[in-house]
Amino acid sequence: MSKVHNFTAGPCVLPQAAIDAAIAALKDFKGTGVPVICISHRTKEWESVMNECRALWRELLDIPEGYEVVFLGGGASLQFLYVAMNFLEHKAAYLDTGVWASKALKEAKGLGEAYAIASSKDKNYTYIPKGFEIPADLDYLHVTTNNTIYGTELKVDLDSPVPLIADMSSDILSRRVDVSKYTVIYAGAQKNAGPAGVAVAIIKKDALGKVSRYLPTMLDYRTHIDKESMFNTPPVFSIFVMNETLKWLKAQGGIDAIHARNVKKAETLYAEIDRNSLFTGTAAKEDRSIMNICFVMAPGKEDLADEFFAFAKERGMVGIKGHRSVGGFRASVYNACTQEDVDALVACMKEFEALKA
Ligand SMILES: *Cc1c(COP(=O)(O)O)cnc(C)c1O
Repeated sequence: MSKVHNFTAGPCVLPQAAIDAAIAALKDFKGTGVPVICISHRTKEWESVMNECRALWRELLDIPEGYEVVFLGGGASLQFLYVAMNFLEHKAAYLDTGVWASKALKEAKGLGEAYAIASSKDKNYTYIPKGFEIPADLDYLHVTTNNTIYGTELKVDLDSPVPLIADMSSDILSRRVDVSKYTVIYAGAQKNAGPAGVAVAIIKKDALGKVSRYLPTMLDYRTHIDKESMFNTPPVFSIFVMNETLKWLKAQGGIDAIHARNVKKAETLYAEIDRNSLFTGTAAKEDRSIMNICFVMAPGKEDLADEFFAFAKERGMVGIKGHRSVGGFRASVYNACTQEDVDALVACMKEFEALKA
């Protein structure tokens, strides 16, 4: 098969080193002679993976004392419910920056009083609302730092007078964040941290235990903190590959090094979108995501969209179709996507322009 450039939004490209380690571990996990998916999670070999993975999260994101890292099933979508269950007592606010943000808000509304503090729905979520006041009496403010579908990103750690909770599913580990400003950070693994099947939550421990509702055992963050994410069988294979992905990231030089590369990749592609007469970007410039880059055909060129899609596919571009609610194209340039991949897409856009403009 010829070289492919994978720009899929998630599940998505992962480092080759993590894939190779996964293949090897499916044959023989740490010299046990047993495939990693056939070993008890109560073995010391498995526990060492859990410990290493937790330690790597702490090291890479510089997680301060007082925070716990847990690995949970159910994806980011179940975290929407966890957050409301564990923190909503009186009232919570959500920054409505897209479909994922509004799905998170819906879970909270099912349990109590929750509302959108600001929204960019009026312009199909192409920007991040700014300048809103955060009332001091909220249980928490929930934000989605990167809006995977629309290609917008909240690039600052907000100063919030109330606990700040963030869905970082699609930009976690892509840039440095000040963890101490958040009460919870959560993410489905399948965009930057590993394969689908596991979510990570980073939780400020002393913020828990303040709600009066009954918390079902599995939906109580404290269960998973107390049992070190082994209250029940963890998704072992997903965690194994996540650990290998974090090891790769550390070997790349960690967050600052990958961030510099991510910025360069994003700048390369946005520069071409802005230069090329056939394409135009959809997100407000100041809010452009460095992870999901959305663009459409320029006005008057809309009928070329299918043709460009086929043209790019022939040249090995995978997964560049935009989300159905936005249309056009989306290139997801997560950590494991390389400058070479981005350069190949840019070359393809230039070639198409030379043919059509
Ligand atoms: C993909 C995504 C989700 C949903 O993740 P699941 O693990 O599939 O539940 C939630 N939030 C954001 C920002 C996402 O990109």
